[in-house]
Amino acid sequence: MATNTSLANLKAIVIGAGFGGLSSAIELARRSASVRVFESVPDMSRQGMDQATLDCDVIQIGANATRLMKPWGNVLEQVTKISSMPKIMSILDQNGKVWLDQDLHTEFDGYPNAYGKRGAIQRALYDHAIALGVEVNFNAPVVDIFEDEKSAGVVLKGGSRHEADLVIAADGVRGQSRKHVVGVADRPQKSGFAVFRSWFSLDNLLDDPLTASIAQSKEPLFKIWIGDNVHAILTTNTAVRGVTCFVTHKDVSDISEDWNNPGDPDEMLSYVQGWDPVLLAIIKHVPRDCLIDYKLLWRDPVRKWVSDNGRVCLVGDSSHPHLATSGTGAAQALEDAATIGTLLEKMGDDRDIPLAFRAFEKLRYERTSLTQRMGWETRHVWHQTDWEAVSKNPDSIRLPQPRWLLGSDASEYAAEQFDAVISHLKYGTPFASENIPEGHVHQDWNMETMLEFEDKKANDAFYQSRGE
Ligand SMILES: Cc1cc2nc3c(=O)[nH]c(=O)nc-3n(C[C@H](O)[C@H](O)[C@H](O)COP(=O)(O)OP(=O)(O)OC[C@H]3O[C@@H](n4cnc5c(N)ncnc54)[C@H](O)[C@@H]3O)c2cc1C
Repeated sequence: MATNTSLANLKAIVIGAGFGGLSSAIELARRSASVRVFESVPDMSRQGMDQATLDCDVIQIGANATRLMKPWGNVLEQVTKISSMPKIMSILDQNGKVWLDQDLHTEFDGYPNAYGKRGAIQRALYDHAIALGVEVNFNAPVVDIFEDEKSAGVVLKGGSRHEADLVIAADGVRGQSRKHVVGVADRPQKSGFAVFRSWFSLDNLLDDPLTASIAQSKEPLFKIWIGDNVHAILTTNTAVRGVTCFVTHKDVSDISEDWNNPGDPDEMLSYVQGWDPVLLAIIKHVPRDCLIDYKLLWRDPVRKWVSDNGRVCLVGDSSHPHLATSGTGAAQALEDAATIGTLLEKMGDDRDIPLAFRAFEKLRYERTSLTQRMGWETRHVWHQTDWEAVSKNPDSIRLPQPRWLLGSDASEYAAEQFDAVISHLKYGTPFASENIPEGHVHQDWNMETMLEFEDKKANDAFYQSRGE
């Protein structure tokens, strides 16, 4: 039950029940808005992905997102219970030589950097949305969006029309709402890579002398093996005794193929043939039915997230898809939701929805452009590793955990910047983003720009997300 009634007279429609859609629904409903979610898949267990993916997968939810869960009933408590917070990440070469034991921040300002079970975390969001009175409609694919100056709505397959004051389109990288907002259809593209992803019980590793110490470790482990155009990741979750093992590799298949293909452990093994025997032993224990070969899709950053009439906006991957190596796509979707909720609340009773959405876009675009880029940069540093540079400075391959990203509070930022951003949009007063690294100057980029660096060593100018 919501105690904040600031949006009590607002009616909202949300497309998609992924991290972006559910968190948007929660942020509006906890302020007493009436929210309906339309999701194309048949139920939560298949939400956006099939059951195998949800059960086999892990997601890192950074402190920038876990702090936003604080006002969400017991969601943060539940997420913490099923997550591990590794203290060290070891980066190894393909032969198993450790080049860096990086100390990891397990929290920022008391909020955990949680590595937890993806399906269970999403379920906790769903349960909380339902508790707040959100109406979630499954089997409800949106086929069209309409709007005028006063309202907006969706048409579902089958023809039913649903209207509200605003529509939040959180339909992910494969969604179609970009076309309504941007005006041109663009399709998800191959990012050139796919990832074998697997989650299984730590007990599977107990009986093998090469892997027993992993299963017995009281501390959660996080290890990355890097080689040419391939990296493998192991994380263990001591809270639920789970292990995940991923291998990211070049991929040439067509995206019309199922992007959640069941994986073949022998094929997974083939990408790391001759690598560290410990990694090979882990992969040999991957159960066949707990493995997917997940195509990494991509859409270029777009500047326009808000429709011409201003009542429809894109959030999450539909506006800014993230590669897995950024480790922050879901967290950014939560930041989007918190920003929209805060801005609409700050507007008070004379709510100007188009202005709130444009303020949202202004506050979020440069930051998410950089977090998206971070995924490409990290992948590059692990796939085209300059070993000579690493031998001089092992820190050059570290996983970025900057304060500008993980130590920031999107809700607080939106409240603090509210007057400045509204004045900027209404009167053209200067506005400079403060949720990016100090001194960072935004530059537009796209997938083509990033792919130019494939198979090449990148220069320092390429790495723009590494500031603290
Ligand atoms: C392999 C991989 C690993 C990742 N790891 C991490 C990580 O560790 N940490 C992290 O923060 N992020 C991670 N990410 C990114 C993160 O998963 C995404 O950024 C996040 O899920 C985006 O959420 P979303 O709600 O925008 O989109 P989605 O989760 O894709 O949800 C979109 C929803 O919309 C529904 N939908 C689509 N079209 C329609 C329609 N027409 N009508 C109705 N419903 C529709 C879909 O069924 C789906 O449920 C990873 C991504 C990948 C690919």
